[in-house]
Amino acid sequence: MRICYVVAMVAEAQPFIERYGIRKVEGFFAPLPCQLYEGEVNGVTLNVVLNGQQQGSDLVGCEAAAVATLSAIQQLHPDIVVNSGTCGAFREKGADIAEVYIGNGVMFHDRRVPGDDAWGTQSLGNYPVWEGSQALAEALGMKMGKVTTGSSLDMQPCDLEMIQKHGGELKDMEGAAVGFVCSLFKTPILYVKSVTDLCDSGAETFEEFSRNLHRACETLKTANEQVIDYLTKRVNW
Ligand code: SAH
Repeated sequence: MRICYVVAMVAEAQPFIERYGIRKVEGFFAPLPCQLYEGEVNGVTLNVVLNGQQQGSDLVGCEAAAVATLSAIQQLHPDIVVNSGTCGAFREKGADIAEVYIGNGVMFHDRRVPGDDAWGTQSLGNYPVWEGSQALAEALGMKMGKVTTGSSLDMQPCDLEMIQKHGGELKDMEGAAVGFVCSLFKTPILYVKSVTDLCDSGAETFEEFSRNLHRACETLKTANEQVIDYLTKRVNW
C-alpha cells in the first residue's frame, strides 16, 4: 500500500517529514519543480510530494498542485492521495485557529462562469472526496468541512458570496486542483487542513496567516500522525 501526501509549503510538510524521518529522492520529477520524499510507516510506503519552489518561495496555488498531483499519480500509483495544508476558515461557523478539519467536499470559489448549466457546474468542480473520509473523521474526533479553492490568499466579496452560496468552510489555494486530478484517475482523495486564519476575523489575512503558521503546522503534524496511523492499520485497501 502507498499513501501519497501532496503538500504546497515546506513549513506544512517539514514537521512530519522529520517525525517519520522520510528521505528526499533527488531529481525524481525533474525538470518539474515538485519534490519527492519517501519512507515507510507500519509496512506502508509513505510519500510526500511538495509542489516545489521558484525564486526561493513555495509554489502555492492550483497550477503547481495539479502538476504535483498528476506526476505523483502517474509515477507512484498511490492507493490514496492526502492533500494536507493550511487554510482559512470562518469564526461564524465555529472554527478556531490551529483546528484541524477533514474535507467533506471540494470546489473552486473564484471561477465566475455564469449559469446553472454544464458550464457553471463544471467550473465549480465539486469533486468527490474519499468515501472513507467521514468514518476517519469520526474515529479520530475531527471536524469536517467543505474545502473551497481559489488562486488568492485574500478574499474578495465575490469569493465570499460563492463560498456562502455553496456551503464552503475551509478556504485554500490547492484543494480543488488536487481533487480535479484525482477525479480523473479515480484515486481516492482525503483532505486534512489546519486553520491559520479566520476569514471573518477582520484581521489582515497575510499577517494572521504568518502569525499562526507555525502553530497550525504543529497541530497539522499531530493530526497527520493520527491519520497515517488510521490509514496504515486499515485492512481492506
Ligand atoms: N507568502 C506566503 C504565501 C502563503 S499562501 C508564504 O509563503 O508564507 C497561503 C497558503 O496557505 C496556500 O498554500 C493556501 O492553500 C493556504 N491558505 C491558508 N490560509 C488561506 C486563506 N485564507 N485563503 C487561501 N489560502 C490559504
